[in-house]
Amino acid sequence: MTAHDLDLSYVQLDLGVRDESEFRLTSVSSTVAVTGPCPRCHGTSTTDFPLGVVGSKGMQWRRDKQLTPATRSAVVADEVLYCECGFGHPELPEGALFVGCGAYWRIKPAPGSGT
Ligand SMILES: [Zn+2]
Ligand SMILES: [Zn+2]
Repeated sequence: MTAHDLDLSYVQLDLGVRDESEFRLTSVSSTVAVTGPCPRCHGTSTTDFPLGVVGSKGMQWRRDKQLTPATRSAVVADEVLYCECGFGHPELPEGALFVGCGAYWRIKPAPGSGT
């Protein structure tokens, strides 16, 4: 495991698409949480995606039903994850929405898993 690089300055940087297997997808009631190391600073970042927001895209499922891994993947497939390692990297703008190194990325499932 790579150490959290605290010396990195805050830069808004698009890291592109990462493999979903680098992250852990969990769901609690109607929120899917994505946890994993930031690909840039390696700090542990957790991002929550409430299903209510996603529902506006037209995807629907019963809220009282346990989410399947495939559903979790679908929920986060079009979302952008921002580094939320929680560490105030140098040059972090005042009032920044996400406390981290400024990197952002998307995740997609590895080929062959799910749909
Ligand atoms: Zn980061
Ligand atoms: Zn960090």
